[in-house]
Amino acid sequence: MTRATLPAHLKADCSACAALCCVIPPFDAAQGFGFDKLAETPCHHLCADHRCGIHAELIDRGFAGCVAFDCLGAGQRLTAMAVERFGSADWRARPDVARWLFAAYPRMRQAQEWLAQLSLAGSVLASAELRKLAAELDAESPRWPDWTADEHAGWRSRVANAIAPLTRE
Ligand code: SF4
Ligand code: SF4
Repeated sequence: MTRATLPAHLKADCSACAALCCVIPPFDAAQGFGFDKLAETPCHHLCADHRCGIHAELIDRGFAGCVAFDCLGAGQRLTAMAVERFGSADWRARPDVARWLFAAYPRMRQAQEWLAQLSLAGSVLASAELRKLAAELDAESPRWPDWTADEHAGWRSRVANAIAPLTRE
């Protein structure tokens, strides 16, 4: 059986991220996140330096969902983009940065997920076509946060069509 692993840029690097998943998405206790949290509000356990205040006790405190979660590299990539565009990714201190990050994060997550799917499938199947599509999507990454609805839908369709034959087997 062929094994494939994701490259580093398709894995979460929380040390290079402004804790975006701890503030932007909603979560709830029933999903293994300890308590119910609204979207775009920081988790109670998030420290000012963007580190988790209960990192060593996540499972015991009922936050298995945080241990299992992987943004596939979207967090650190978007954090770096914010620093490049605004000189900061500090969503607490910069309302303009917060607005931009909060709007862009779902698009980044989706695009990184598509990239991971194409990269894995291209690697397992040794498919030059899938790898080419992954490279094209990756090359567009600086524009992911600014994609129009049509561009987003267009990529959704292209990735689904590329991967569909695999899911039928
Ligand atoms: S968004 Fe990703 S990189 Fe950032 S803290 Fe969450 S899992 Fe880590
Ligand atoms: S418990 Fe820690 S890792 Fe989980 S959302 Fe809160 S701050 Fe983030």
